[in-house]
Amino acid sequence: MIKNCCGDAGDIAGNLRTIQEKVRQTAQSCGRDEKSITIMAVTKTVAPERVNEALALGISLLGENRVQECCEKYQSYRCGTQQIHFIGHLQTNKIRAIINKVSMIESVDTIHLAEALNEECVRQDMQMAVLLQVNIGMEPTKSGFPAEELFQAYDVIEKQFPRLQIRGLMTVPPDSPDDQYFAQMQKLYQKLQQAHPDRPIDTLSMGMSGDFERAIRFGSTQIRLGRALFGQRPQLNKN
Ligand SMILES: *Cc1c(COP(=O)(O)O)cnc(C)c1O
Repeated sequence: MIKNCCGDAGDIAGNLRTIQEKVRQTAQSCGRDEKSITIMAVTKTVAPERVNEALALGISLLGENRVQECCEKYQSYRCGTQQIHFIGHLQTNKIRAIINKVSMIESVDTIHLAEALNEECVRQDMQMAVLLQVNIGMEPTKSGFPAEELFQAYDVIEKQFPRLQIRGLMTVPPDSPDDQYFAQMQKLYQKLQQAHPDRPIDTLSMGMSGDFERAIRFGSTQIRLGRALFGQRPQLNKN
């Protein structure tokens, strides 16, 4: 377990200042523009009032990873669905419940899910922005395409499911001090951009409370922070 990644539950403003300072310093140290990194607030188990506090402080993007929780809370948020992304494992029977409440599904992890999403988009005559989730450590407990299937999956989705607009990659790397997983993700992301220069591939969603500085050094454009911003979650909700 990576320690010392949690903010003070009572001081969202202070936590955000600390995070912003770390983002600034890390970006600077590797020659990146800090504005190229979006801070997403991950809202699981967090009461809507506290989510709204983060929004009032300037957070521009929320991450939801449970369909039911999102459905219960999203109307209380002082932001539009444009500012909400889905980041959790999505079962096909929940697509209809979530698709109008978010502007991006970051967790497309199978062709089967992509197909079902595309079908629902056809039914509702809409488009959906997506990221392909990569299981970069090949961990059995985590979702995502294996790295070696990623490019094939991209081609299938692009050709067969035109309602989905692939905007990049998302990952939850192994909890390890080894930077190889971040490096592999950066390489995959760059390869994808190079292979499709005419496509709007602009998002590498990588880095959480315990590892966001490392993720930034390896090109992350979006860090997903729960505990660093809102403090420790209740014990039952460790993920
Ligand atoms: C919970 C969660 C996060 C945030 O994790 P923290 O360690 O609290 O920052 C990020 N991404 C996903 C997919 C999550 O489920």
